[in-house]
Formats: sequence, structure tokens, C-alpha cells
Amino acid sequence: MSSVTIKGLGVSDGIKIGKAFVYKPVQHSSRNDEPIAEDQIEEELERLSQAKQKSYEELMALADRTKAALGEEKAGILSGQAKLLSDPAFYPKVEQHIREKLSRAENAVQTMVDHFASRFESINNAYMQERAADIRDLGRRLLGHLYGDQQPSLAELAEEVILIADDLAPSDTVQLNKQFVLGFVTRAGGQTSHTSLLARSLGIAAVVGAGDAIDSIRDGDQLIIDGGQGLCLLHPEAADVERYRKLQQEEADRIREWDKFQSQPAQSKDGVRVETAANIGTVQEAETAAERNAEGIGLYRTEFLFMNSKQLPDEEEQFAAYRQVAEYMGERPVIVRTLDIGGDKELGYMNLPKEDNPFLGYRAIRIGLDRKELLLTQLRAILRASAYGNLNIMFPMISSLSEWRQAKQLYEQARQELMNEQAAISDQIQLGIMVEIPSAALQAPAFAKEVDFFSIGTNDLVQYTLAVDRMNEKVAYLYDYFHPAVLVLIRQVIEAAHQEGKWAGMCGGMAGDPLAAPLLLGMRLDEWSMESAAIAKIKKTISHLDSRDCKRLAEELLKLDTPEEVRERLKQYRNQTSPE
Ligand code: PEP
Ligand code: MG
Repeated sequence: MSSVTIKGLGVSDGIKIGKAFVYKPVQHSSRNDEPIAEDQIEEELERLSQAKQKSYEELMALADRTKAALGEEKAGILSGQAKLLSDPAFYPKVEQHIREKLSRAENAVQTMVDHFASRFESINNAYMQERAADIRDLGRRLLGHLYGDQQPSLAELAEEVILIADDLAPSDTVQLNKQFVLGFVTRAGGQTSHTSLLARSLGIAAVVGAGDAIDSIRDGDQLIIDGGQGLCLLHPEAADVERYRKLQQEEADRIREWDKFQSQPAQSKDGVRVETAANIGTVQEAETAAERNAEGIGLYRTEFLFMNSKQLPDEEEQFAAYRQVAEYMGERPVIVRTLDIGGDKELGYMNLPKEDNPFLGYRAIRIGLDRKELLLTQLRAILRASAYGNLNIMFPMISSLSEWRQAKQLYEQARQELMNEQAAISDQIQLGIMVEIPSAALQAPAFAKEVDFFSIGTNDLVQYTLAVDRMNEKVAYLYDYFHPAVLVLIRQVIEAAHQEGKWAGMCGGMAGDPLAAPLLLGMRLDEWSMESAAIAKIKKTISHLDSRDCKRLAEELLKLDTPEEVRERLKQYRNQTSPE
């Protein structure tokens, strides 16, 4: 049999070689639509109630196990489903359906699940899609109990496999035992789905969105997956296996080598130190970052706290999360970014208006300044948590000085309120802005007089400078942080900060790219913030660089005309300087 290459989206790194396990959850399609007699209603309600109770117990037990293994937030996906069982908008409707339509419990569950899930699915937003997945997942569990069907249990897999599935619900994914599940490939899925985020947290290699090509995979087929490249090789030839085993070995060696740098400071060959920090989205990631010796948190994306919640988290809930992050990091600085919602990150319960150009519209600080009570609540929560560690604050999507000044005024108001309430707050808080809009980069000299620091968000800066939607794969070939126009802006921001004795950091993806390291070191970037898994690799890269040489290189690169030339020159430089 000749080998077949299946392409998907690589969402969690790792090269794995193993046998396929094709996961097919039982489909409960054998519906019996015959109405029941009126005197059977109570019996059906009782069956429903028992299925509810069993589902509840299972979900809570699973939530407990998940909490121990992965922390509170991941467990919240399961306890959230358990809560859904008692949601007044759901369960009573199923009961009502049994009573009014004389429906069997199975039919009532299926009908109401379809009803709610399709309503959520019709709203084109990631949060609603996740809610739909949750309700379908819960429906499958209830139906399993009602039909008495044995679902194949992923938690009980006891041999090494690569899992193949149409899609994996978050509750499927958290059950996966890393010892046996080497990786998974799914037909559906996107980069920011809960399932992809969980795979990364669990360290399971994953390729999602592989489409119908997965239909050709049978149980027991030999497979290779590359979660970094988004590739799956079905029936690999002996030569493929050999090649990937070598790559696997190289990957393991590389990780071992990087790990040696984990506990060391980031320092160039000639002794220039930079700060390496982690980007986090959850409290749990702060714990991982602390363990991996991140020198700080350069970006705490607080919107995930809002996205993982079914309603706006209040001041207390926010305070608890920020306090925990502050405590994990102790004296090390944490930069809390205020809510950056809008664009691709939507919040269903906020009912934000549908827009033609969401990335150019009602987003981030624009929402915060329009709905001041939201930003004020968040600032109060951060300020209160500041008493427990070293918290600092930055505002996203600042495009003008007046936005920054209004945000700062709100901060002062929150501070004043808390002082009047005699709350304990730190007096060392630094206030900064994200530089991710070209206007802010161009006005960096004026901003630098007023802010304590800059953090360059290349993910958005590239999209706004080059007019390339960061989500659109059709124009992805134009999206490049090595574009000379972007480099000019980055240099201007760093120089403007230094001119005023302030510091400049970077929390966009460029900071975690080893190829960019000589350029950023040459430009004297002070703080580099990235996914915590990338920190050791960047430290190692920096350790081989000479900052004076890199300064000359940066000047040379800034004179080039195209991103391709910049990349080429950086590759050449890497080959000269890196021992690998
Ligand atoms: C950025 O834009 O570079 C950034 C770090 O913010 P986000 O990716 O959350 O938009
Ligand atoms: Mg951004």
C-alpha cells in the first residue's frame, strides 16, 4: 500500500508514529417517535431524572480528576456541563417536551439539544460554537444513559494509539491519557477551539481540520503525525518511518538541549541580559510559567477569563484570578492586559453588534472606554490583586494619545475609589500600552513621555501595517513580521522608549521566533514575552549571539527592501552563528 499524505492544521507540536484508533461514538439514531400514553409520562420523567443524576455524577467525577491533572479552568468545562443540566433554560424544557408532546425521554433530549445547539451554531462566533459543542456533548451523555448504550471510553484506552475522530468534544479531550494517546487527528476543528487549547496543555500532538481525508484511515493502520506541520502520513513507507524517527530523535534532542537553558538567564555571548517572560491566558498557565522559570508574565490575556465564563465575571471573580496569578509569580512582574475582546474574540453574552470589519471596529480599549463600568471593574480587581504580587497594567489597541489618557484617568479613578475604601494596593504599578496599531508606533515619541513601558504586539501590528487579515489563509502569504515597514516601526518604538528612559517589550509571536532573535537583540528589545514553551529555545539562541554584531546586523537589515531578503539574510546569519 502506498503512503498517503493528509494535511490539516497543526495545533499541538510533536512527531508521533503509531497505530490508528478510529473513535466512533455510538450514534443514537434509532428513534422511536411513537407518542407515549399519558399514564407513562411520570415513568419517562423518572427515567430522565435518573439519566440526569448519573450524568451529573460522572461529569463531577471527571471534573475532579481534571482539576487534579490540569487545574481549575480546564475542569470548569466539565463542571460547566454539569451545571447546564440544571439550567432553567434547558432541563425544564426537556421535561415540558415529554409532558406536552407525549414524547419519550430520548426524543425529548435529542429534540431540545438539537434546538439549542443549532441556535448557537447559527451564530458565527467561536464562543457560541463552543457552547453548541458543550450542549451536544451533554446530550450524548444523557442519551447514553437513556439508551443504556456503552460508549467507547477514551479514558480506558490501554495501548498506544493515534486517535482519529470526526471531532473531539472538550470532555473527550480531557479524558485522554497521554501515556496511551500519542496524538490525534480530527476531521473538524480550528486553532482556537477548546480542544486544540487542551491538546497543547496536555502536550498531546494534534492535527485538526483534516477533512474527509480521514475517512480512508482504518483501525490499526500505521500512521505518522507531525503536530507542528499539520501532517498525517497514512501507510508510511519504511523510508518515511526512518526519516520521521530521525526527526523525532532530533526533536527530543532539541527539547533536551533547550531545557538546559530553562533555569539560566537570557544573556548574550557578550553579557547583555534581556528579560524573557511568558504569555498566558489562564491562571493554570501562570503556574506552568513559574515552573519554567519565566522571569515574568509579559502578557496576561484576561479575555480568556471572560470567554470561559457564561456571564461577565464580577469584580470578586476577577480579583480571585488576578490574585492567584500574582501569587504564583511572587516578585516577578506580571503585565495584566485589560480586556481585549472584539475582532476574532467575541463574547456571546455581551451581544456585541455584528460588524463588517470587526478588527477595525468595536474592539479592546474602544469597548472599555465606551462601557466604562466594565473597564473600571476590571481595573479595581487588578488593583486589589496588586497587593499580592508585582502586577502591572497595559491597555490593548491604543491608537491615539487621547485613548491612553482616558484609560489612565479611569485607572486613577479606580485607584482613588479603592484608597477611599482603604483597600491595600501596590504603589509600584507600571502602566503601559500595547503598540499594535501603526499610529501608536508612529507617535511612540509622544507616548513615551507619558507611559511607563511599551509592549509591541506584532500579531496585530503586522495585520494593521500590511492590511493583511491575520485570520485569512488566502492572504497569509503576505503576513510577515519581517516586512521592512514593520521593522521600521519596531525600531522606532524601542528607540522612543529608550530616549525617555523607559523600556520596550514585545509580546507578539515574533518574540518567540529564534530567527528574529538577532534582529531584536540588535534593536535592544528589553523584554521578550512568548509562549512559555518557547522560552528555553530563545534563551539558547540568545546565548550564541553577540549583541554588538547583532546591532550591525539590525542596521543592515533595516536597509533591505523586502521581507524575503530580510529572512534570507537572517537564515544566513543563523547558519553562521548557531552550532545546530
Ligand atoms: C498581538 O497583537 O501581537 C498580541 C500579542 O495580542 P493578541 O494576539 O492577543 O491580539
Ligand atoms: Mg493584539
